[in-house]
Amino acid sequence: MNKKIDRSRVLIIGCGRLGANVANELSQQSHNVTIIDINKDAFRKLSPSFSGLYIEGDAANIELLKEAGIDQSDILVVATDKDNVNIMIAQMAKVLFLVKEVIVRLYDADKKSIYEDMHIQTVSPTQLSQRALSKIINGGDLDAE
Ligand code: AMP
Repeated sequence: MNKKIDRSRVLIIGCGRLGANVANELSQQSHNVTIIDINKDAFRKLSPSFSGLYIEGDAANIELLKEAGIDQSDILVVATDKDNVNIMIAQMAKVLFLVKEVIVRLYDADKKSIYEDMHIQTVSPTQLSQRALSKIINGGDLDAE
């Protein structure tokens, strides 16, 4: 079943390997995307057809988040490479800016419950990789999903 995708305002934190790919894909799907990174070279990962906004700066800075329109965002994807920074930004988004959907990349899957208590969704690369490996080892087909 295809889930209908509405056009959303998506703010992405971290234009690294994960954030840039998500930004490129969502922009391609006509979502309204803004992406922040502390390192301006990171924006080279955006595709030439990326039609959103990119802002250089530290996303732990509340003024920068406001400038990026966090209070009007439907979805926030937090994908810096530091779990503690991600937690802090996700908490601000939920508590101060009332962002409905906050999704965080979390390296330490043991911290998952902290987020779940706050209704923040998490994606843990290690857990996802482990599930994929297990599926392949047991004869499953990843492409069938
Ligand atoms: P990756 O691990 O390849 O997905 O990259 C993580 C990205 O997060 C890198 O491009 C970093 O420059 C970026 N990053 C790390 N800390 C911050 C921060 N405080 N604000 C914005 N971007 C950050």
